[in-house]
Amino acid sequence: MHVHNDEKFLSCRLRFRSSCPFAGRAQGEAQVSRALQDRYSILVHGGAFTDRRYLLGNTQLELIRSVVAHAREELAAGAAALDVVVAAIVKLEDSGLLDAGKGSFRNAANFTEMDAALMEGHTGKGGAVAAMQRLKNPIRAARIVLEKTPHVMFAGPVGEDIMVGLGAESVDDPATYFVPCAAPKRADIGGPALGTVGAVALDRYGHLVAGTSTGGYPGKMPGRVGDTPIIGASTFANERCAISATGLGERFILRSVARDIAMRSEYSNVPLQAAADYVIEELIGKIDRADGAIIAIGREGEIVLSGANIAGMPHGYASWSVDVTVGFALA
Ligand code: ASP
Repeated sequence: MHVHNDEKFLSCRLRFRSSCPFAGRAQGEAQVSRALQDRYSILVHGGAFTDRRYLLGNTQLELIRSVVAHAREELAAGAAALDVVVAAIVKLEDSGLLDAGKGSFRNAANFTEMDAALMEGHTGKGGAVAAMQRLKNPIRAARIVLEKTPHVMFAGPVGEDIMVGLGAESVDDPATYFVPCAAPKRADIGGPALGTVGAVALDRYGHLVAGTSTGGYPGKMPGRVGDTPIIGASTFANERCAISATGLGERFILRSVARDIAMRSEYSNVPLQAAADYVIEELIGKIDRADGAIIAIGREGEIVLSGANIAGMPHGYASWSVDVTVGFALA
């Protein structure tokens, strides 16, 4: 599958942040310990689709294109990966075109329950929310957890109250604000119709961040929490990579997919793409006969996509060396 890793950018084109006009835009002086580098990458997904008939159309791809183009500009100007990932996911949540935020599917009891997670690699900090019913932007709440609490995950109505108390925006009337996106209901295709969103980014400080947000499956049991808010299952970042996943959440939880990919790559010293292909194609695809996909960025800015048993995944990417590119196909 795709890897873009231009080796010539590996060497020496570093400028020190003391001379950089954008250094003050990073996440905080204490966290900015590296030289400013020329490399930066952004990769965004709009969920894995199991049936070609229901791949989303140009509207969604154009949305992803504009999100990626803006993110690329921000990263080039020295924005922090955390800001870029959150901003990208907020736009997808607000669009109503995908299964996250406004466009979230409803559960079997006909109300919305959303999950989201965020992790930054250089600090090892994570934040997540699960089963949120009225938050406008679950990914912003995940950031609140990461930045303003000593915890990693808040869940359910009490957790939601805490998030609102800490500044998360809630909608007045969830039943009218959340309108399931136009993808088909699960029963129509005998399997999940997905539209989870995610973003991973490498910024010019060498920091990697991953985020994922979803309304989960249409018709899921009330109270069900999927893989999206589980750090290590569908969202993971460290100093070597950032990963966001979409797919059959129960299998992604049980296999700790995102962290497994990261650790296989690190411990076996294999490229991120090879580790992702093994976990997704062999374990999730062949052994589990499940479906799903991941997006990942490595510390050299390489773009990684891998999927199993899916028709496609709307996605877009760009980097210091690759122009904005969008598509469905992973091979
Ligand atoms: N993984 C999500 C979940 O199980 C669904 C998706 O990726 O679309 O909730």
